[in-house]
Amino acid sequence: MKVAIVGGGVIGLSLAYELNRRGHEVVVAERGRMGRQSSWAGAGVFPPSNIDTAIHPLEHLEARSDQLHPIWARDLKKQTGIDTGFLRCGGLYLARTVGEKAALSAVVGEWQERAFEAVQLTPAEMETRFGDLGCAGDEKLIAWWLPGETQICNPHHLEALVAACKAGGVTLLENCGDVRLDQAGETVKGIILPDHDQQTITADAYCITAGAWAQQIVSALPMVPVRGQMLLYKLDAAPFTTVVNEGSRYLVPRADGYVLFGATIEEAGFDTSTTPEGLANLKQHAQDLLPALTEDRLVKSWAGLRPGTFDGFPYIGPLAGHDNVFIAAGHFKAGLHLAPATAEVVSDLIERKEPTIDLRPFAPSRATMTQ
Ligand SMILES: Cc1cc2nc3c(=O)[nH]c(=O)nc-3n(C[C@H](O)[C@H](O)[C@H](O)COP(=O)(O)OP(=O)(O)OC[C@H]3O[C@@H](n4cnc5c(N)ncnc54)[C@H](O)[C@@H]3O)c2cc1C
Repeated sequence: MKVAIVGGGVIGLSLAYELNRRGHEVVVAERGRMGRQSSWAGAGVFPPSNIDTAIHPLEHLEARSDQLHPIWARDLKKQTGIDTGFLRCGGLYLARTVGEKAALSAVVGEWQERAFEAVQLTPAEMETRFGDLGCAGDEKLIAWWLPGETQICNPHHLEALVAACKAGGVTLLENCGDVRLDQAGETVKGIILPDHDQQTITADAYCITAGAWAQQIVSALPMVPVRGQMLLYKLDAAPFTTVVNEGSRYLVPRADGYVLFGATIEEAGFDTSTTPEGLANLKQHAQDLLPALTEDRLVKSWAGLRPGTFDGFPYIGPLAGHDNVFIAAGHFKAGLHLAPATAEVVSDLIERKEPTIDLRPFAPSRATMTQ
């Protein structure tokens, strides 16, 4: 079967990788360069999951992705030689203010319900294990340690997906301009690549994986781009590799001494620029949390657009009225995490197999029903 995919972020590339491994012919048409939008801009942190206690299909999507990620990391390394930085590094969750303590205690209740391994750390344990943190000795600090949290280095992961797709014979078309569907009434006959001389590519099935821009291709999919600004620092060595979460902020130390700090949460349309206020606020929090993150250690900053939907769930499934057009977009804060399971279930749909996860909450048609 031939499949044409529109959008080369982590969702489109993961789908191409999965379909290629299943023996299909795949073309990915990307407006700019492969994997340079949200998927590159993100942090690559995966909160824990538990397949045994998963109830909602989203929890199943998380848990299935957590089963697949280590396998994909191993296979991608074998196929391309690229280390994706997949690391079960654990996550630290901190709360210092009254509001953050209340929010954290609600989250702890959820972890307990879902039987995640979670341990509360005493101030003495914090000093011993995370003495580099500015708040480590704070007697009023609440700290929880979740060994199941994971990170990948998303730019390396994307590089590996691109290399594996190329090696497998996937056609990766960059700088295509705003690819659109070639439609005659209800029938999609192909995709049109404006910046490739209006070339039309025909296929047996089509999948829209255009992230925050999916609505520009299929107007019936309400999307909300949610901007996140990020900072990247470089230290001489990693102080630790655990992800540190405090409220909506997080610090992600990579094993090579690079440290990410993020992120803002803003609705600013499709504007991917950073702002002086956003960066100043992040810098202040970064140095407060890890005093070694001084201005002279800052390497760069950027912003990306999380693909948000009207109800917080991604769109995964057939486009209403079509049996050969599928959508996989709107993964908001978790697209890097959910990509392998999304690729698996969408490949099943394309092959007319029943996916192992109930996709009803993700049906793209729910958007038109609420309009
Ligand atoms: C600051 C920040 C932090 C994040 N942290 C995490 C995290 O820790 N963990 C996690 O799991 N997720 C995280 N995310 C979310 C994650 O990055 C996204 O959910 C994910 O990247 C979405 O992937 P995508 O492929 O759908 O979108 P994208 O990566 O944006 O890819 C969509 C692609 O489609 C292309 N495109 C758009 N329109 C067209 C068109 N008409 N024709 C052709 N191509 C088109 C775009 O150019 C783009 O390359 C974060 C995001 C941000 C911004």
